[in-house]
Amino acid sequence: MTAKKPKERHIKGLGIASGIGIGVAYVRDSGNFTVPRYKIPTRDIKMETARFDNAVGRARRQIRQLQVKAQSMPGTAEEELTLLLDAYLSMLGKSRLIRGVEERILAGRINAEAAVEDEIAGIAEDFAAIDDAYIAARMADIREVGNRLIRNLTRTPVKPLSRLPKGSVIITDELTPADTARLNPNRISGALAIAGGAEGHTAIMARALGIPTVLGAQFTIQSVRTGESVIVDGDTGVVIINPAPATLAIYEKRRETRIQEKRALSRLRRQPAITRNGTEIGLQANVELPIEMNMVKQAGAAGIGLLRTEFMFMNRDDFPGEEDQYRDLRGMVEAMNGRPVTIRTLDIGGEKVSEALIDGLGHSISSPLGLRGIRLALARTDLLETQFRAILRAAFHGPVRILLPMVTTPPEVRRTRKILARAFRRLKREGVQVPDALPPCGIMIEVPAAALAADALAKVSDFFAVGSNDLTMYTLATDRADEQVAKMFDQLNPAVLKLIQATVDAAARAKLPISICGEMAGDPRNTALLLGLGFREFSMAAANIPRVKKRIRALDMSAADQRAKIIMEQTDGGRIAMLLEDFNALAG
Ligand code: PEP
Ligand code: MG
Repeated sequence: MTAKKPKERHIKGLGIASGIGIGVAYVRDSGNFTVPRYKIPTRDIKMETARFDNAVGRARRQIRQLQVKAQSMPGTAEEELTLLLDAYLSMLGKSRLIRGVEERILAGRINAEAAVEDEIAGIAEDFAAIDDAYIAARMADIREVGNRLIRNLTRTPVKPLSRLPKGSVIITDELTPADTARLNPNRISGALAIAGGAEGHTAIMARALGIPTVLGAQFTIQSVRTGESVIVDGDTGVVIINPAPATLAIYEKRRETRIQEKRALSRLRRQPAITRNGTEIGLQANVELPIEMNMVKQAGAAGIGLLRTEFMFMNRDDFPGEEDQYRDLRGMVEAMNGRPVTIRTLDIGGEKVSEALIDGLGHSISSPLGLRGIRLALARTDLLETQFRAILRAAFHGPVRILLPMVTTPPEVRRTRKILARAFRRLKREGVQVPDALPPCGIMIEVPAAALAADALAKVSDFFAVGSNDLTMYTLATDRADEQVAKMFDQLNPAVLKLIQATVDAAARAKLPISICGEMAGDPRNTALLLGLGFREFSMAAANIPRVKKRIRALDMSAADQRAKIIMEQTDGGRIAMLLEDFNALAG
């Protein structure tokens, strides 16, 4: 008897990183407290115990960081919290919980997460016989510590994403930017997640890595099994589980066509980005991971217009030191062979933060309206100064500009520049190699208040870089990473365009260089509008450079200017998209 062939199933979501991915499902259930449970072969028991020890060590460090925070709390709060944290720390010593888990791993040959869960259940059973409020409260503390251990353990899964078999398609409820940073594009064929919007950092990273990805998809994790074959269409947002042979053949053909198109575009690499009437445009690359440097070179980027340094802060629960940061940055500056690199200071915060960092810095940093970007840097000037030292040292090896994220007011810039100047003086005094003069220091315009105060900000900045992703999010009060409001995230909304126009005009008045590095810069459908608004410098995912260059070479500046004028008179984002579409069809 032949086994029944599984039925082809379709899942729909947001296609956020284009391309066709064909591979085998790896289902990762990272649901908060579904504790994984499996047997450990005898030869791996030692490794499992070491994994548990690591999780305990990490929990201790997390608690110590909380203790430091507790010290700045008012009176009784400090006392209460300190007592509680002391109790947690002793539970992480040679307590029954820790000994019990170790014994369970050894005797039951089970994974550490399951052993923690079992030990908590065992202790609860013993406590249940005692009717005492104090004991009940202690039980809650044990659960808290146990859950922290489980979280730490599941954060370092037995099979890290970076080591999945070649051709895997990751299927998960949520893919964080930190997860995405660990994906190896040579091994991962695609990704599918329930959560996530089109302009969040997970999306940006997936695009940068060229991994076909669908986020915000409607399905349940339980409906897909590891090992099933999958097609991810990152353009249309369709994912097909167990495709029938005919479907597979169609998608294989589509994938081949895309590869051919890419090859044809790559011939533009050595052509200049110049409009039909001879206006030269600078096309630089956005970079989020060192692994992208090859793609940046292949795309023929004129430089790096936005180097997001967050990758250095991801997937770790401490902060990178000066040497680590210097090594990474120097490598990237040298790889650009004399072409400029714009290094943005840390913009952790909002959805970009790794869970582990919250433990050290508090919950405000996980709010997009909280301690994000420059605000965090000014609250933790030690982190900022360390990063400035690393950047200034890297700047000795090639042309560098420094870019500050999430600026709202001129005093933020003035304060930051003072710290930069101090770091520069100190390095010189120490005899460390740095450039002769301080590199230019510019700011992101991505908060509506900054766009409206662009004249004042121009006086304290050396250049502007428009961040249309956050500018759209904050102007429209629409979370860029939330699939539920993805349709409202309209970068062509007239309010967003007015703020961009105000920024360009202020830069022109102050004769300040200005570029645009949000995702809208990398979409060739927007190129005419952005040229018409006055941009001559763009920064985008390396993969988009050839497509935008092709568009620029087909455009006439005065036609683009006229179309931008008409667009700026519109009141509706949908109509603006239509006007652009018509224009692109005519001039394309
Ligand atoms: C932006 O907000 O447009 C931007 C380029 O910065 P990021 O996407 O890193 O927030
Ligand atoms: Mg931003």
